[in-house]
Amino acid sequence: MNKQIDYKLLPKLAVKSEPEWKRFYAKNKKKLEGMDVLVHTLHNVISNRTDCLSCANCCRSLGPRITDKDLDRMAKVLRLKSTEVIANYLRIDEDGDMVFKTMPCPFLGSDNYCSIYESRPKACREYPHTDRKRFYQLFNLSIKNAQTCPIVYEVLQELTKNNP
Ligand code: SF4
Ligand code: SF4
Repeated sequence: MNKQIDYKLLPKLAVKSEPEWKRFYAKNKKKLEGMDVLVHTLHNVISNRTDCLSCANCCRSLGPRITDKDLDRMAKVLRLKSTEVIANYLRIDEDGDMVFKTMPCPFLGSDNYCSIYESRPKACREYPHTDRKRFYQLFNLSIKNAQTCPIVYEVLQELTKNNP
């Protein structure tokens, strides 16, 4: 069983691998369109052996975009009015998106559990996107995400190693 990569090492490791990933993308752009099954298989294998509770780096460092539907769900589970959720937890960022006021996320516990897990925002559910359809459209975003998420880093490493 592979040892889980320490997320603290990722910024350096990912930056080092970035030229290789970009080379792979430039060479395999077309081929990548038919590679969802392989990417999703890698995602499943790697995420199954990854313990997100010993990491939580995404909840600590990335601010998910909060949609109106997310806001409604959060208000319901927190038993607050939407306006109260906004006042207590949210702000509008420079792109005009609703995001958490503070990071690490206010709902991340000291045990790395999410206290609103069943009602967490859609962006949290979808992260780290390596199981998304048409992964090739997210390849460049994944290069960025590899600096944060061990799953993304390993998916890119395996993908490029097996398909030079
Ligand atoms: S999704 Fe990635 S960054 Fe988030 S907790 Fe899991 S391994 Fe860590
Ligand atoms: S809402 Fe939950 S899953 Fe989303 S960032 Fe906060 S702690 Fe993480």
